[in-house]
Amino acid sequence: MVKKMEAILNFDCIVIGAGPAGLTASIYLKRANLNVLVIEKGIPGGQMNFASSIENYPGFISIEGIDLASKMYEQAKELDISFKMAEVKGIKTEFNYKTIILNNEEITCKYIIIATGRQQKKLNIPGEEQLVGKGISYCALCDGMFFKNKNVVVIGGGNSAIEETIQLAKIVKHVTIIHRRDEFKAEAILIDKMLKLDNVSILYNTIVTKFIEENGILSGVSIENNLDKTKSILNIEGAFIYIGYEPDIKIVDGLDIKNSNGYLVVNDKNETNIEGIYACGDSTSKEVYQIVTAIGDGALAATNIIRNFK
Ligand code: NAP
Repeated sequence: MVKKMEAILNFDCIVIGAGPAGLTASIYLKRANLNVLVIEKGIPGGQMNFASSIENYPGFISIEGIDLASKMYEQAKELDISFKMAEVKGIKTEFNYKTIILNNEEITCKYIIIATGRQQKKLNIPGEEQLVGKGISYCALCDGMFFKNKNVVVIGGGNSAIEETIQLAKIVKHVTIIHRRDEFKAEAILIDKMLKLDNVSILYNTIVTKFIEENGILSGVSIENNLDKTKSILNIEGAFIYIGYEPDIKIVDGLDIKNSNGYLVVNDKNETNIEGIYACGDSTSKEVYQIVTAIGDGALAATNIIRNFK
């Protein structure tokens, strides 16, 4: 008779991703005395680090994203939560435990929380890939200062595009927002703020078809009005792309826990359909993608693990 081996597990729970969802989950787990490890491949705080100012997170009238991120990380470190900076390559489920696969190492645990968030979408048009860092940016907070007193475009019509336009307008000479529809998706309060700025103009119903370079540096964008199909060129020195996000969950390729849009599917306890694997935050399919909802998801996933922990 083959005897089932009892694995010696490295951790009770491994949280993948140290954005607001993952950090919250780890704080709840540690406070319940579970042995938890957080694995992060980038900067703790995730996408919060790239938000110029956050004005809808209760407790702060306005706070820079990077400050909120470091406060959350500080709170987790204060609790002595273990962190590992590494990229997860995959997940294996065996018997009643899970294995996290890293480059040169495997770590075992009883529960996993996937909180890997989302990454910014690309336009995937000619010139984009070559000119990133040479005029094209996905982060106004990081790169805005390189465009002091210059003319730039922001592409997109959601909260990110409008919020970052407001910040860029304080630095650059002029911002032209290029939006593919005649109505913004962003919240009214942000749109009103942006419309009051003298150095911002808007091109509605317009798409960018190509980024133009001169001597290896961005010098303009080819644009097309998608109603009358007129084409023109706009001479600019910077382009900031804010057209939304896509989930960052290649690590679960092979596990059947995604929907057709590539988001993780969870139930009202933030469990995936694999026992012991939970997911929370922006990598899950849900209605509202906000820091406060990510935090709520993280608390829910962790609380359900704590309740079921054997
Ligand atoms: P988003 O809400 O998904 O908006 C993306 C925008 O880009 C939309 O206006 C969309 O146009 C446009 N777009 C998408 N693909 C495009 C393409 N291929 N070409 C041209 N335009 C394209 O993304 P987001 O603004 O980054 O926000 C992401 C999430 O974070 C949202 O849930 C948002 O509410 C949240 N967020 C919140 C705050 C805040 O509360 N202060 C700040 C930032 C982000 P259409 O409108 O035509 O679809």
